[in-house]
Amino acid sequence: MQGIYPPELAMTATPESRDPIARRCICCNSQNLARSPAVLMPFVAYRAFGHEPLDILPEWGFRDLRPGMAYTLCNSLQCRECGVLFLDYRFTDAQMASLYSGYRDERYTRERDRFEPGYAATTARDFEHRAPYIADIERWLSPHLPQHPAVLDWGGGSGINTPFLGTSPTVHIHDISAVPCVAGAVPADPETFGKQHYDLVTCCQVLEHVPYPFDFLQSMLPALDTETLLYIEVPYESLVRKSPDSRELATSKRHWHEHINFFSPDALRCLLQRAGLNCVDHHVLSLGAKEIMGFLARRH
Ligand SMILES: [Zn+2]
Repeated sequence: MQGIYPPELAMTATPESRDPIARRCICCNSQNLARSPAVLMPFVAYRAFGHEPLDILPEWGFRDLRPGMAYTLCNSLQCRECGVLFLDYRFTDAQMASLYSGYRDERYTRERDRFEPGYAATTARDFEHRAPYIADIERWLSPHLPQHPAVLDWGGGSGINTPFLGTSPTVHIHDISAVPCVAGAVPADPETFGKQHYDLVTCCQVLEHVPYPFDFLQSMLPALDTETLLYIEVPYESLVRKSPDSRELATSKRHWHEHINFFSPDALRCLLQRAGLNCVDHHVLSLGAKEIMGFLARRH
């Protein structure tokens, strides 16, 4: 996710749907959840909560605590109804801002490299250029769209990975990260949502970071008219991919990082329907070791 969690969502949610430690499914709202303890990875715990790992030393003389490294604990939750696997912590707007401020800039990269040595030298560099697989996404989307679709990218950062960048005359980016847009893209004006027609609204590699995906999707609806297609793309995480129908995954998920939601195809379809969207088509795309899944949907 290249943008920061939009603060306007705070006004669209009811208090019970924003429990900071989830008690309901983030997709279907069920309370039928499996639970298993896990570790919140130190970089995320540091950015969101200000926690540092703590080495408990024998000389402190604790009677009931064993010496050793203490990390921030959390729970893995899996919905027994729709199958989504997720972190129990649902970060507040302030925690999300802290976690994602200056996302992948120099300071962010330096801090992350302190907890995850090698991050700066390897992973961070992957995000400076347009990802090659975007051409595959465009090929998949094209038959559903007019030749030069008007595109709004929700959470698209600079627009570097926005589908149809460079070929469509209208590429708008809705993102509060204040990253300058690349050539061919301009910032969207939320005042025009509902008046300006978009053929395609995209939200790629965002929903897996978002604490309240249902609220997030609902906040996008004003930008969609009845003809607009919404393209949602998330990682198809290998743990879920190996057993997409399993409801026993919580005990296999022992750590959480910035992807706090692992969707199954059923769970994502369920979330879309609950938000008032019908699935038109979907695909799974292999990117070497990783896979992504994309859903195309339209308002009811
Ligand atoms: Zn569910």
